[in-house]
Amino acid sequence: MAKKRLKFLARHDPVTGAYNRYFVVDKLRRWLKRRKPLTVLLIDLDDLKLVNDSLGHAAGDAVIQEVVDRCREQVRVNEIFGRVGGDEFVLASRRFTDKAAAAVWAREVMAALVPPLVYRERRLRVSAAAGLAQSPEDGDTVDDLLAAADLAMYASKSGGGRVVNVAEPALRARAARHEVVRRDLRRGLDAAEIELFYQPKVRLADRAVVGFEALVRWWHPGRGLLRPSAFLPAIQHHALALDLATRVVELAAEQALAWRAAGLVSGPIGVNIDDPTFLDTELDGPVLAALLAEGAGELLQIELTERITLRQSSRQLGTVLQGLRRHGLQVALDDFGTGFASLTHLQQLPFDTLKIDRGFIAQIHTHRERAAIVQALVTLAGQLGKEVVAEGIETWPEYAWLNACGCDTGQGYLFARPLCATMATRLLRGERRLGDRDVCAPEETQVAAAARALDGSHRRALAGGEGPSRSAMPAVHRLSAS
Ligand code: C2E
Ligand code: MG
Ligand code: MG
Repeated sequence: MAKKRLKFLARHDPVTGAYNRYFVVDKLRRWLKRRKPLTVLLIDLDDLKLVNDSLGHAAGDAVIQEVVDRCREQVRVNEIFGRVGGDEFVLASRRFTDKAAAAVWAREVMAALVPPLVYRERRLRVSAAAGLAQSPEDGDTVDDLLAAADLAMYASKSGGGRVVNVAEPALRARAARHEVVRRDLRRGLDAAEIELFYQPKVRLADRAVVGFEALVRWWHPGRGLLRPSAFLPAIQHHALALDLATRVVELAAEQALAWRAAGLVSGPIGVNIDDPTFLDTELDGPVLAALLAEGAGELLQIELTERITLRQSSRQLGTVLQGLRRHGLQVALDDFGTGFASLTHLQQLPFDTLKIDRGFIAQIHTHRERAAIVQALVTLAGQLGKEVVAEGIETWPEYAWLNACGCDTGQGYLFARPLCATMATRLLRGERRLGDRDVCAPEETQVAAAARALDGSHRRALAGGEGPSRSAMPAVHRLSAS
């Protein structure tokens, strides 16, 4: 009896009775030896942690069991299914010779996961992402095939989940590029190549600067000034994202305190954060704790994009946001209107500010639908006691429309581009004004102008003290507010 049980455990997952990783890998290896096309579908559940945290592990187990049962119903002869990780499952089939047909099958499997399941009278939705790969095209070893499926799966996840992505050479090439970016960025963080630019937030009624948004930039030694879209995708789901986020919060806090120490009133600096839970622990870390002790908290506003409301329940998010507020930080909901947050979130979550996505602002004065939506949002936010910021104001007619409709605050190239710290400081000192040519100039050229504007002693200090590796522009900005 014991022997039989041992044999079972060697091949099966004890919780669900599905085949385990060991068995699945062994089976795939043997199938691959026959040199016939083999399709693997890797499925990864999204919110298992959420279920475990909010409803307990028994609920998590129930979800897994249900997923196993539903997947098993999809399995035919000459196919296998197994649980290969906590929330990862593999189906493998030898039925398909071409990927298009396999993709149809994969979507059928995923469709079976869509209906909500009932756990203790609660309806739970399972959200999953899947990646599909096929031998020999995507690899002829188990490792290569699973790695290709994994990549495709991650591509689905960053697209918002619930879809099947099919492995293709382009994905592999992208993964290789991302790897290079990560390696570079690790070095860049150490070499202080990460810098923040500051875009003014402007009170529309009188066009006074009432705050800034910090936007991360990377002075890449070979590629020049890089914007976030050039490197943030490469670090998603990697620990490096936390290192960068920590650095960004530190830099913003240091700048806010430097301005305050120089007697300049900057208003709160908005900092973009992808995952606020990390701040929970990071705020107690040595550097940030010291900055907060100096009062940086009330000088910062955390900007969370709507997407966050997909990943976390309102209750969890509410708790995290309350924690941030205890440190004095304000919170803004960014890119509102891009389709992820609902009006319920506005009501339930403790946001101070609502930032309306640029997509609604462009040409608002000639676009009736956009105008109607923005007018409604402005009214709603006013009634909920929240500040509204219109993003991406580029023209005077857009400005005039927004001002007339009662929108408090705006940002956009019309007033100023994101500014290097030196230029932002000059704006605060009144040496530059919104709309000035260099304030609205592209970022790369601002830096050269700022460097030229430095007096000779600064330039000598830079040339003498920093050595050749610092000759790229960024060091200049650290002299801000001094
Ligand atoms: P966002 O938070 O919505 O930031 C506004 C983006 O719009 C910025 O792009 C800004 O340069 C751009 N922008 C501002 N005014 C105008 C305008 O009038 N016209 C146009 N066409 N664009 C305008 P940027 O700096 O490339 O940043 C893109 C996104 O990257 C940001 O969107 C934000 O989601 C993310 N991001 C920026 N910095 C950070 C960061 O430090 N950490 C994280 N996690 N994300 C960041
Ligand atoms: Mg933002
Ligand atoms: Mg935004």
